[in-house]
Amino acid sequence: MKIVVGHLYPGYLNIYADRGNMAVLTRRAALRGHDVDIRPVGIGDPLDPGAYDFLYVGGGQDREQALVAPDLVEKSEAVHAAHASGVAMLAVCGGYQLLGRSYRGRDGSFMPGVGLFPHETVAGSARMIGDVLLECELEPGERQQLAGFENHIGRTLLDSGAAPLGRVLFGFGNDGESGVEGCRIGRAVGTYLHGPLLPRNPWLADWLLAQALAHASDGSPQALDPLPDELENEAFRVAAERARKRGGRR
Ligand code: GLN
Repeated sequence: MKIVVGHLYPGYLNIYADRGNMAVLTRRAALRGHDVDIRPVGIGDPLDPGAYDFLYVGGGQDREQALVAPDLVEKSEAVHAAHASGVAMLAVCGGYQLLGRSYRGRDGSFMPGVGLFPHETVAGSARMIGDVLLECELEPGERQQLAGFENHIGRTLLDSGAAPLGRVLFGFGNDGESGVEGCRIGRAVGTYLHGPLLPRNPWLADWLLAQALAHASDGSPQALDPLPDELENEAFRVAAERARKRGGRR
């Protein structure tokens, strides 16, 4: 099968090598005999909601977010339509904030968001930085741990009843208080976890890949053939251990 990915603002929202997540998605798809076609979508480019199986938005600092936010708002309708038609999505940090209703930056600047994720974000006074370990249950009864790295000043408050991506075992998460991290609605996942998110959490890479394949085939997600994942599991183990040493919430 061919999976078409729309990568939003790769020239702006790209800190911590967030584009590496797309390299992992492509490779894991290829190992199962599928092609991934990644198409950049920039400021002023049209976003055709019917053209993609997967949409990806990386992270960026407040400055880059302010540059893309007005354009992203213009694409809101298309993002909602894509989500409603079952397109899979991953939004990281700055992208995660802008897919919510709004972000108020450190300097007081107000950025309206897409309103896909049911949350609002306001910058606090201290950055939340470090390794994170989460417990997730994207499929009922299937508990998985997710290791990553967070660095954000925004505090994201989910609406009551909204589903997070996971429960914080170690780290700050959305706001340092609620004990949850990220947001999940249907096939869309938003998270503060940066950079090598998919390389060290192969189960999440495969979950997203399965959602994108389901959209591409007009069917429901199918289990993918397992891969050896020795290095990936070791990368997870090291990151999880760092998060444990960091301590914090349990
Ligand atoms: N500018 C946002 C914050 O600090 C997002 C940062 C990021 O993407 N790392 O909250």
